[in-house]
Amino acid sequence: MARTLSAPVTVAFDYTRSTGPVLGRFLTGLRDGVVVGARTSSGTVVVPPPEYDPVTHQQTTDFVEVSPAGTVTSWSWVPEPVKGQPLDRPFAFALVTLDGADAPLLHAVDVASPEEMSTGMRVQVRWADERVGHITDIACFEPAAERDAVATEQPRSGDMPADADVDPVTGIITPVELDYVYAASPEESAFYRGLAEGRIVGQRCPACHKVYVPPRSACPSDGQPTSEEVELSHEGTVTTFCVVNVPFMGQKITPPYVSAYVLLDGADIAFLHLILDIPADQVRMGMRVKAVWKPEDEWGTTIENISHFSPTGDPDADYETYKNHL
Ligand SMILES: [Zn+2]
Repeated sequence: MARTLSAPVTVAFDYTRSTGPVLGRFLTGLRDGVVVGARTSSGTVVVPPPEYDPVTHQQTTDFVEVSPAGTVTSWSWVPEPVKGQPLDRPFAFALVTLDGADAPLLHAVDVASPEEMSTGMRVQVRWADERVGHITDIACFEPAAERDAVATEQPRSGDMPADADVDPVTGIITPVELDYVYAASPEESAFYRGLAEGRIVGQRCPACHKVYVPPRSACPSDGQPTSEEVELSHEGTVTTFCVVNVPFMGQKITPPYVSAYVLLDGADIAFLHLILDIPADQVRMGMRVKAVWKPEDEWGTTIENISHFSPTGDPDADYETYKNHL
């Protein structure tokens, strides 16, 4: 058996942002199949348009439609794409200066090998099948056959499709996700293995005698290494709590419900868990609760073996017993 446990963890949420009038104009253009940049006070055309002029700091107002074709000015090969990148097969990230623009745009170029990439090569936009007003409306760039084969119109100022005024893109949702492997310390691994046996195991500091659960390997207050294991009660006291009213991605329980710090009897630090079997507005500081375990055949090495905490019905704990744990 390995000395320590580890587990894959994914932290993710949908980041919703308003685009503002400038990036909104760019994204509205993508939805409508045109690439929109802006002319700065120095006369250069930048794609995507900057929200404020880099010299005068005035808001950007001079929008310019540029060509969907351009020239690679720099590139880097991606041999092993990862989740969330523009393509799921090897590709190049490239800086592409579109015809009519003076500054390059970063995007993917779909070619089979790095031998097909070169600085100075001509590429053109490959539009997504369905465009929604997002940078992914440009699925990627692809090699353009001939310079002359691609329309290279002069940039046109203020000549925007009517749709941009009628139904502009004002917001985008960007999923943010981080995958990592959580490696538990030897002491924490003992805690998780204890949970797989229906036990809650902490450790006592040899110097200050405080009991920490989950164990920390060393006492947070005096730094002493901890090794003495302490099996804790499955009952405890609610110290502080919050009522969760807001739905969020991955939520397993319908709000409102209570997430609370529970100070187990015999422990000197509270840990976070759910309080159920009681209306959210009746949970209170000092309330006595007990762990409700899932059926044993569902147990793993996880805190989720404890389904939640439930009121014991005993009288509330005296404030003095938990006032130092708030
Ligand atoms: Zn200590």
